[in-house]
Amino acid sequence: QTRRVPRAEHPISRSSFPSGTLRTLYGLKDAGYEAYVVGGGVRDLLAGMEPKDFDIATNAHPEEIKRIFRSCRLVGRRFMIAHVRFGDEITEVTTFRGPITDSHERDETGRILSDNEYGTLETDAFRRDFTINALYYDIRDFSIVDLVGGLEDVAGRVLRLIGDPELRYREDPVRMLRAIRIANKLKFSIDKATAAPIRKLAPLLREIPAARLFDEIIKLLQCRDAEANLNGLREYGLLAQLLPQADKAMAKPQSADFIARALRNTADRIASEQTVSPAFLYAALLWPAVVARMQRLIEEEGQHVNVAIVQASEEVLAQTQKYVVIPKRFSLPMREIWTLQPRFDLRKGGRQQRLLTHPRFRAAYDFLVLRAQSGEIEQAVADWWTRAQVGEGLPPLPPEPDLE
Ligand code: ATP
Ligand code: MG
Repeated sequence: QTRRVPRAEHPISRSSFPSGTLRTLYGLKDAGYEAYVVGGGVRDLLAGMEPKDFDIATNAHPEEIKRIFRSCRLVGRRFMIAHVRFGDEITEVTTFRGPITDSHERDETGRILSDNEYGTLETDAFRRDFTINALYYDIRDFSIVDLVGGLEDVAGRVLRLIGDPELRYREDPVRMLRAIRIANKLKFSIDKATAAPIRKLAPLLREIPAARLFDEIIKLLQCRDAEANLNGLREYGLLAQLLPQADKAMAKPQSADFIARALRNTADRIASEQTVSPAFLYAALLWPAVVARMQRLIEEEGQHVNVAIVQASEEVLAQTQKYVVIPKRFSLPMREIWTLQPRFDLRKGGRQQRLLTHPRFRAAYDFLVLRAQSGEIEQAVADWWTRAQVGEGLPPLPPEPDLE
């Protein structure tokens, strides 16, 4: 039952879209094709939030899209996506996807292996994940097309999968993570039937390529809703599948407080438009595991702290990479942030100056401050390094701990 809401009865106007999006829509329309804005952009506008970007769906095939726009690049693996560029604005255009049928090849857990047929708006809508993500803004008459009850769910502030939830999670387990993220972003509730199978199906996340998970975790935990997302991941048993070491740490109040502070710190930086690094985030999530391992190496194997921190860092990283691939450009700074921590305890002579000029000092110092705030170390140590940076009249040194 297709519902078409005319322009007069919904709040989305053409001025809601950036010029690159509009030019792409009209380019397709003027060439005789259908063109719609669909997905998160339409959803966010209807929910009263500022969209991140706008995606376009069309019945034009990739080769045809390429013929219309001079600055079009085709990207993607199984399914081609067209990137249309106007100035520095890039708009993603996808061709309607065909229906999923029983004849589609699936792996043993239910993931679809081969699908590359094109379709119509009708088939495309049912391939999308949530009802609120399947609303189409038609550039021909500015109406909104709804085949799945998405408008009703926006009004009721519910996140609901299209179709049978278990089947849809088996097709693509990342949808479990998207459910948590999108519900928290919009402050929508997750429909009961959509939420119900998640706990049971959480282990399916292990089938997802570890590189794809890295990006999904960043989207979940490096944003304004990071704390709510972390709680959601815990509640549904998803964190234990993604980062078991962080999941374990969350059971300890002090570690949980440290991780929460790191997430809040990141969210605050995003809010004030400062840069944020995935390295800092991942370093914080895994720090309690590093500390636990380091302490065991010191106590049980009698290792020196400087040796123990290096080995603990290596081990925790190696364990994590079994689940989530952390690219080298992030794992190297993570290791530095960690291994610099014991050096903050050495405040005599030239060592202090060397640490102050270390290229990773700033991130390591921010990390130290969080450790002090969560009560892991004395506040006086962080304060000392705060003043040491200004370089004016260093306070008396707090006693160095006995490190041997
Ligand atoms: P945001 O951009 O705020 O992260 P989004 O919903 O726009 O959220 P995108 O990854 O940009 O997320 O995807 C755009 C659209 O593509 C979605 O709204 C949805 O219609 C569809 N989509 C994305 N991922 C999936 C998926 N795993 N399964 C089915 N449809 C999906
Ligand atoms: Mg989007």
